[in-house]
Amino acid sequence: PKVAKGEVQWCQGYSEPESGSDLASLSTRAIRDGDEFVINGTKIWTSMAHRADWIMLLARTDPDASKHRGISFFLVDMKSPGIEVRPIVNMAGKHEFNQIVFEDVRVPATNIVGDENRGWYVAVTLLDFERSGIDYSARARRLLDDTRAYASETIINGSPLIDIPWVQNDLVDRYVECEAARLIAYNVAYMQSSGLVPNREASISKVFGSETVHKATETCMNILGVYGSISSSDGRAIMEGRVQECWFASFSDTIAAGTSEIQRNIISSRGLGLPRG
Ligand SMILES: Cc1cc2nc3c(=O)[nH]c(=O)nc-3n(C[C@H](O)[C@H](O)[C@H](O)COP(=O)(O)OP(=O)(O)OC[C@H]3O[C@@H](n4cnc5c(N)ncnc54)[C@H](O)[C@@H]3O)c2cc1C
Repeated sequence: PKVAKGEVQWCQGYSEPESGSDLASLSTRAIRDGDEFVINGTKIWTSMAHRADWIMLLARTDPDASKHRGISFFLVDMKSPGIEVRPIVNMAGKHEFNQIVFEDVRVPATNIVGDENRGWYVAVTLLDFERSGIDYSARARRLLDDTRAYASETIINGSPLIDIPWVQNDLVDRYVECEAARLIAYNVAYMQSSGLVPNREASISKVFGSETVHKATETCMNILGVYGSISSSDGRAIMEGRVQECWFASFSDTIAAGTSEIQRNIISSRGLGLPRG
């Protein structure tokens, strides 16, 4: 398929300036006009919207229904008249985020996925897939492997850096966490391949995987010392500046696709049956 080949790119239009964790409070409106809907509103933090051909968009189609029940899931062509994409540069100096303004954007009614006003359930099922998170352990593992190789080759005060006990202890702890994150993600993939929809399992994978990446990048940063903080544009950077880059990105991993706090809420209520706080 074209998506797998990278020939068609999609972005995800869920978050809004006033609706993040409480996504169901979103206020982007879609009003029916014959065979079309007319969309007005603003999305934010939309990753790679500046490169996307299409957007998966949540919009409110019934403002009188309870907040989860009046939302529909639209597929919208990013070339539609009335869409303006405004870049947002993150703390690592990268342009990945965008704000998108929709002004009287017309979308065929046939572009709704599932039933009208039932889009919330499409979105949360997709989020459960997004939170599977096999990439977290893969990224952390690569960084740990490269840091281990660097520490083995680097001599500090006449001895290899890897000979220092805390370096070994920290690397071992991170490898253990990385392996656990990988197996937790495989469990989610197994459920998906068996036709089951993971829910608390996806949240467990998301929170553990993203926090594992963060701890791994911090350990690598400690081992590399100040050289770890040099960016790739400087010739003195170690490992092409990837530790610094991954360290910055690891903060956002614990926010994207639902924050760690929200994942813990899901595990608490849907996994453990604890009362909502
Ligand atoms: C790298 C990255 C990529 C992203 N890409 C996209 C994208 O492509 N499309 C898209 O739609 N969105 C995207 N987002 C946005 C992301 O989904 C939101 O940032 C996230 O859901 C949190 O919403 P918020 O930023 O509005 O924070 P808020 O909801 O305002 O939360 C602020 C703080 O309060 C805490 N909090 C809020 N409610 C609760 C609660 N009930 N219990 C405990 N703590 C709570 C949160 O955990 C957080 O620490 C992306 C974010 C990042 C970081």
